[in-house]
Amino acid sequence: MAMTCTACDATASTTCTVCKSALCATHVQMGQPFISARQLVTTTATTALRAPGVLADLLFNELDMVPYCASCREELAAKRTGEQLKFLIGLLLVLAVVIGLPAYLMLVG
Ligand SMILES: [Zn+2]
Ligand SMILES: [Zn+2]
Repeated sequence: MAMTCTACDATASTTCTVCKSALCATHVQMGQPFISARQLVTTTATTALRAPGVLADLLFNELDMVPYCASCREELAAKRTGEQLKFLIGLLLVLAVVIGLPAYLMLVG
């Protein structure tokens, strides 16, 4: 059974990863899969412990693109920015503790 694109009358070739709506080649938008800040931290931590060599690949390589519809793509882009911000804040907090604590102890002691 051929599916019809949700945005036009063309035959759909794929579906949106998030909402599963049918999309034709014109209306599909390829994007990176969404990774939450928590997942990013967990993956980074486990990779750093198990295989530090591939950590750079993991962080800087492009992920496999997955199909999205226009609205999900937009939604995810906004969410991704929020998650990246959370990740950065978390990273800064960890750094503040790692650097700040010895400095504080030196000053006090
Ligand atoms: Zn279409
Ligand atoms: Zn969608």
